Amino acid sequence: MTSVVNVGNIKIGGGNPVIVQSMTNTPTTDSSATLAQIARLKSAGCQLVRCSVPDYESAQSLKKIVRGAGMPVVADIHFDYKLAIAAADAGAAKIRINPGNVGGQNRVEYLTAVLKERGIPIRIGVNSGSVERDLLDKYGNTAQALAESALKHAAILESCAFYNTVLSVKASSVIKTIEAYRLLSQKCDYPLHIGVTEAGAADAGLIKSAMGIGTLLLEGIGDTVRVSLSGDPVREVYAARDILYSAGLLDDYAEVIACPTCARTQIDVTQYAEQLTCMLRDVRKPIKVAVMGCVVNGVGEGKEADLGVAGGKEKSAIFVGGEIIKTVPNNKVFDEIKKLLAQRYGIEE
Ligand code: SF4
Repeated sequence: MTSVVNVGNIKIGGGNPVIVQSMTNTPTTDSSATLAQIARLKSAGCQLVRCSVPDYESAQSLKKIVRGAGMPVVADIHFDYKLAIAAADAGAAKIRINPGNVGGQNRVEYLTAVLKERGIPIRIGVNSGSVERDLLDKYGNTAQALAESALKHAAILESCAFYNTVLSVKASSVIKTIEAYRLLSQKCDYPLHIGVTEAGAADAGLIKSAMGIGTLLLEGIGDTVRVSLSGDPVREVYAARDILYSAGLLDDYAEVIACPTCARTQIDVTQYAEQLTCMLRDVRKPIKVAVMGCVVNGVGEGKEADLGVAGGKEKSAIFVGGEIIKTVPNNKVFDEIKKLLAQRYGIEE
């Protein structure tokens, strides 16, 4: 079991539910645009958000962001311990910084003293591109080098009696990432922030993240998740929730199941499934809706769902709670499902 780290009002580690996090890609200096993006992230299910703080102007703007975010904000700092303190002053709930890179023990001691006093944790984030030369010489560009690098940074914090630490070791290779986290989870009990770095855009990035994060979660490794995808970070949050749900770690999730379609398909399964997915994306209720193209598999699957449709030649069967409640003309299927979602679950499009 990992230790517990408090990030604002959120607990990471120690068997607490896995936290979904993401990162803004608006300029932190633009607090309005950043807060607008955070609001969208929140509505998608994000619980913790990270903003880059590359300069003092950003640290200044972070104050406003922290006040309006509605969730704890993590400041992403590279190298500059004074900026880390400025971010803490601005109200950051966690600082991402690698203590080995701040320029000496004195600076780390100063930074950790400030953070300790305020109960602010540090996340050490090692990527395959940032592993130290000596470790690369010793272990090669391997999972072990990644894990040792994270532990080395953590040891610097420990030398200042600072243990309020979360670790991550991300590679763009799924297998290397998994191995590095396995090693870390054997060697320490710090909570682990898991993800695959530079996973990429579109489907390839999703698949790499699902493989890496999913495998780790199924092994009981991982306390907070970030899916890294290029583009709108809201997609990262949806993907993280999809992975958590698939790993059996999320209950308040609305699932749409749909058949793959075939020559027997009688209704527009793809369109209905997409519309329903869109409609249910931000719903935090355990609901399963089935869209099945015909009665061959549709009846069985539809019965397992809370709500569903199985397409027929001219009329389709609508299921609720495992029973067919009515048949409706095929062009009325979507309206009927929408009506039921509104009546029974209060869900509006
Ligand atoms: Fe084909 Fe029916 Fe199966 Fe859908 S449920 S794939 S339409 S057999």
